[in-house]
Amino acid sequence: MAHLLEARDLVRTYQVRRGLLGKPTPVRAVDGVSLTVRPGETLGIVGESGSGKSTLGRMLLGIDAPQGGDVVFEGQAMPEFGTPQWRALRARMQLVYQDPLAALDRRLTIAQQIGEPLDIHKVIPKEHRAARVAELMAAVGLRPDQGGRYPHELSGGQRQRAVIARALASRPKLLVCDEPVSALDVSIQAQVVNMLRDLQDMNNIAMVFISHDLKVVRNIADRVAVMYLGRIVEEASSDVIFKTPLHPYTKALVSSVPVPGKMLEGRVILQGEPPNPANRPSGCAFHPRCSLANDLCRSRVPALLVAGEGRTAACHMVEAPADAVAA
Ligand code: SF4
Ligand code: MG
Repeated sequence: MAHLLEARDLVRTYQVRRGLLGKPTPVRAVDGVSLTVRPGETLGIVGESGSGKSTLGRMLLGIDAPQGGDVVFEGQAMPEFGTPQWRALRARMQLVYQDPLAALDRRLTIAQQIGEPLDIHKVIPKEHRAARVAELMAAVGLRPDQGGRYPHELSGGQRQRAVIARALASRPKLLVCDEPVSALDVSIQAQVVNMLRDLQDMNNIAMVFISHDLKVVRNIADRVAVMYLGRIVEEASSDVIFKTPLHPYTKALVSSVPVPGKMLEGRVILQGEPPNPANRPSGCAFHPRCSLANDLCRSRVPALLVAGEGRTAACHMVEAPADAVAA
């Protein structure tokens, strides 16, 4: 099996009302996104808020149903949310959110919650539960005595470790992490990201790592997809994206990431309004903020095309190599 997860042409629309009496109009949060994730690899999804990243993440797990396109996980079409078939898959694909306090039940101890998936998915016999919970806690760097504590008795970083331990309990093959460290102190972020990376390596877990923060993504992703207003505008290996970004939006994002020991030269400041799905510009949606925009950009949507070995970009100014085939 080449792909663990495959998404084709995903579309998700929601209704937005302009003003109190306005007619609800459909707004595309995710607009024709296709991607693949191989076993054990990390796909970073980056973009500003409003780019559709979180909606995409929930669609990849079948929590939000796509209105167009489909998701195939382990060779099987994603079952409808909440059905027994979907719940059966749930053990193998887990979600880690930004806010661990919201993800945890304040009335249950950390150990009780880390063990929950073991009960739900009946992955091990009851008598092995305590040992497995202890193993999971050790794996995420929690002390045994912290198992008896309640969420509010732990720090933010410790809570997120507990959420990650719980997500790993059922031995998933895919983790979708939506801004998993954005709520944590910067000093803690790297620790949690490094821990995630180690756990993922050891257990051969694939990860979709959603973040607005390129510094964090750079540290963990094998490949990076850049989203703007519901579409992928560039995708390549992490090395390639950070060394030679092609799309003007990616260039601006990458240029704002500090590289240790290097001055921020050639920094491109993003001008104009951040993306607003309710107000999609014509043609290339990035054109109001792009210094290269011309008439073609304002009138025609650029297709996501192969722009070199293992990379795609959606920009009229990016030349496709002579031997490229359509993405
Ligand atoms: Fe800029 Fe035009 Fe490329 Fe869009 S298509 S990113 S407006 S150059
Ligand atoms: Mg989000």
